[in-house]
Amino acid sequence: MTARKKTVRRPTGLPTEISVLGKKFTIEYTNDMNKDEYGETDLELKKIKLNSNRPKHTWRATLLHEVIHAILGVTGQSNKMTDDEEEGLVVSLENGLEDLVDFKDF
Ligand SMILES: [Zn+2]
Repeated sequence: MTARKKTVRRPTGLPTEISVLGKKFTIEYTNDMNKDEYGETDLELKKIKLNSNRPKHTWRATLLHEVIHAILGVTGQSNKMTDDEEEGLVVSLENGLEDLVDFKDF
């Protein structure tokens, strides 16, 4: 049997699109990702994917994580650091901002 891409319903309170510095990113909740991945940001397609195979309580923090990647990408900051440096910065900001950010503000 072939695994088919399936987009699932988003959890209440999380958006389907988000504006990052004036650029609209669509948000897709999908099971079409590797099991070990939480999320992914595609700067060219302006799309954030969240792995719906992950527990729902992780999706909000993952969305914040991917939005921070998008901010660093849109501003060109991600080109100034290695992938490991960017990931460390993103994780730090995700943890520091998690309790402060309400996605209704975006
Ligand atoms: Zn990351």
